Amino acid sequence: MSAQKPSASKFTYFFGSRQNGENLTEGKADMKPLLGGKGANLAEMARLGLPVPPGFTISTEACLSYYSSGEKFPEGLEKETLERLSTLEDVLGRKFGSSEKPLLLSIRSGARASMPGMMDTILNLGLNDESVLGLAKSSDNPRFAWDCYRRFIQMYSDVVLNVHVSQFEFLLEDMKSARRIHKDEDLTADDLKELVSKYKRKVLEETSQAFPQDPTVQIWGAIGAVFRSWNSDRAIHYRKMESIPSDWGTAVNIQAMVFGNMGDDSGTGVAFTRDPSSGERRLFGEYLTNAQGEDVVAGIRTPQPMTTEQKKRMSDGDKMVSLEEKMPAVYKEFVKYQALLEKHYRDMQDLEFTIEKGRLFMLQTRNGKRTTQAAVRIAVDMVAEGLISKNEAILRINPYALDQLLHPRLDPKKKGKPITKGLPASPGAVSGKVAFGTAQAEAIKAAGEKAILVRHETSPEDIQGMDASSGILTALGGMTSHAAVVARGMGKSCIVGCADLRIRYKEKLFEIKSADGIIIVKEGDSITLDANSGEVFLGIIPTVTSELNQDFETLMTWADEVRHLRVRANADTPHDARIARQFGAEGIGLCRTEHMFFEADRIDAVRSMILAETQEERERALESILPMQRGDFIGIFREMQGLPVTIRLLDPPLHEFLPHSNAEIEALALKLGVSFDRLDNKTKSLHEHNPMLGHRGCRLGISFPEIYEMQARAIAEAMVEATKSTRAPVQAEIMIPLVMEVKELRMLRARIEKLVHGILDKAGLGKHVLIGTMIEIPRAALMADVVATEADFFSFGTNDLTQMTLGISRDDSNRFLPEYVDLGLLPEDPFVSLDQSGVGQLVTLAVERGRKTKPQLKTGVCGEHGGDPRSIEFFHGAGLDYVSCSPYRVPTARLSAAQAHLKGAKA
Ligand code: PEP
Ligand code: MG
Repeated sequence: MSAQKPSASKFTYFFGSRQNGENLTEGKADMKPLLGGKGANLAEMARLGLPVPPGFTISTEACLSYYSSGEKFPEGLEKETLERLSTLEDVLGRKFGSSEKPLLLSIRSGARASMPGMMDTILNLGLNDESVLGLAKSSDNPRFAWDCYRRFIQMYSDVVLNVHVSQFEFLLEDMKSARRIHKDEDLTADDLKELVSKYKRKVLEETSQAFPQDPTVQIWGAIGAVFRSWNSDRAIHYRKMESIPSDWGTAVNIQAMVFGNMGDDSGTGVAFTRDPSSGERRLFGEYLTNAQGEDVVAGIRTPQPMTTEQKKRMSDGDKMVSLEEKMPAVYKEFVKYQALLEKHYRDMQDLEFTIEKGRLFMLQTRNGKRTTQAAVRIAVDMVAEGLISKNEAILRINPYALDQLLHPRLDPKKKGKPITKGLPASPGAVSGKVAFGTAQAEAIKAAGEKAILVRHETSPEDIQGMDASSGILTALGGMTSHAAVVARGMGKSCIVGCADLRIRYKEKLFEIKSADGIIIVKEGDSITLDANSGEVFLGIIPTVTSELNQDFETLMTWADEVRHLRVRANADTPHDARIARQFGAEGIGLCRTEHMFFEADRIDAVRSMILAETQEERERALESILPMQRGDFIGIFREMQGLPVTIRLLDPPLHEFLPHSNAEIEALALKLGVSFDRLDNKTKSLHEHNPMLGHRGCRLGISFPEIYEMQARAIAEAMVEATKSTRAPVQAEIMIPLVMEVKELRMLRARIEKLVHGILDKAGLGKHVLIGTMIEIPRAALMADVVATEADFFSFGTNDLTQMTLGISRDDSNRFLPEYVDLGLLPEDPFVSLDQSGVGQLVTLAVERGRKTKPQLKTGVCGEHGGDPRSIEFFHGAGLDYVSCSPYRVPTARLSAAQAHLKGAKA
């Protein structure tokens, strides 16, 4: 270890008490940035007097200094660490490396945000050829001591010395087959001792150095490895996925070992204070007797349920023994602590514990990951229990995950017979193609299809594959296994512990033995997961959307009470309008009328209109479109019952409606009774090099006034008709797209206004129609004060505004944008989440300038960003009146708008 820059910093923080009760804990829960989540919470538990094995945390500052100085430990860290170790020896009456009563340590990473399994851990550190004898003596259990030593060599060599675990697993397997035994437990102390010699020889062979015997060398090797694991590929990938900044660094927790593998009265487990899948208020968890560390989550042995109630709910519960039955006193003590911790943290906790010879130790507490369904239920229940306020409940739900609740279920009528069943670890229903590894999952995704990742169990190395997949299925593991926890966090459907599954990776297939024989499923075959029930099906099964429960409605009502920003939906048909209303939309912010033009029964009328050579011909064709368009508007107005409906006049270039291949042109020419050449020439004459910047938007209305006039007439006549049966007068807002210059708007507005007012006046409806514009072209945003003279409202078309401000084609951006995001050139895809610093400026400026001209100017957004939580927060701050998004994102937008208000009020 060599010193780098001089520093007066304090790098280490002790937690735990002396035998006489003196509490030496320095950290606390709100020190997460410095101590990491695990370290801060260990300190908090120690402060609360819970049985936490004592230890100390090396701060994230030490990690950051390690990186900034080219992977060198900061000055002062060595001295501090040695002092802490000596306090620890003192507290426990054990000595590091001693051949009498050795002190053994666990070394664990712990970042500010939880990154389950992403970084490194080393257990049993401090064992060497001397101290293993000390451990054998002090535990009176030589087999246990040698088992710890062989585990330590394996873990340390894998993490610090880069000797892959499989090297040791081979030796272990060889030994078991030589002894003709199947289970590790059947190896004797002498076997394990021999294995230790083999392991050490392997290390020498692989690294040309002997396995380090000096515990001080071991500890610095381990600390460095934990620091470095912050920048491992999988940790970097996870951070990107979860938007965790890379400059947080990790803390290192150095803690006295306690042993769950000292026999049948020992064990280790993981538990949640409430059900992380449903949110129900009941203790839920899993444990294993005679097991250490990661055994429970690794999914190698089948864990047992915590409570007898939980056991009764399991299909094979009769084969299980709950902790409540097995160790009633320990269970009772645990129940006390979990209640205390949940109340203290005012949130559902995810706990780790170890039982050493009947004595309970708490190893970790943190806010538990949960499904969105559970998050909503827990938040609503906790308000009723008086633990949190309504505003806190609103802020606890991740709006990005909310659509998990709106996820589809399998259509019960089409369900059929499952081929097998596992544990429903993370809900939803999904169909996709089977992939057995990351590369295949990514290839399926890249081809625009859905992948289902099928594995024995998952480990952190599979994180990329899980990310690329839409569903995950594992043969092993319980509800707290890696696959379950990670999938739940990602909001992906996941089934674990599917015991019937026999995966043959080499042959790229899995087999399931069923009553009907053996079913073989190959890579690329389609399967369906019903992760609400745990059932797996062959092929693709249609899904239906889940109905929303009362807790969700309650939460949404609270959000609606708080938010100022209104939420509308983008809907083009009466059917979409109905769904939008069901999700709570307060109007339609964008009705794209061209979608009506594309319908099978009217596209030919539209094509005749395009082919028309004279105005009369065109008007005749439009006459036949008018009643259809009017019918659509009547349907939409009726669904919306007096809520505002923004209808955009025709926007796309006309060539989008014409066929392009010769065969298609020929068929259409025949159908319309025109010559091939005429149709072909028209198609060619409408061709554009940059259609996005071509003859589209209001430019069509300028060139072909009769198109916009027909649409305006259809709107006005539909208003007259629909008003007869709606509860409140129809509020139509006519929107002119792609305006760059106020004169365009002035000309079109005058024509539309005259026509619409004429119809409305005649029907005695007054002048109840607003005429406004989309702001999609930077020039219109810059000249918003002038544009506002002719506009009753602005609706930001942030799709086009992004395209034109960044100069990136909406349609071709995928060729390079992902790379831009990977390289950090852009923080994220600007078509998904608003480029706040660039496009955002135009929005803010246009609102300000527009309102200077017209203080009452209505403003909204109808680009895709209207449903993106981060963008919604921005729009709230910019003072818009509403956002408009797809119907399924309306709940997300309602929640985001409420959160934006609460966050703004706090700031
Ligand atoms: C927009 O440009 O943001 C918009 C809503 O219009 P479209 O996506 O139809 O171009
Ligand atoms: Mg647009």
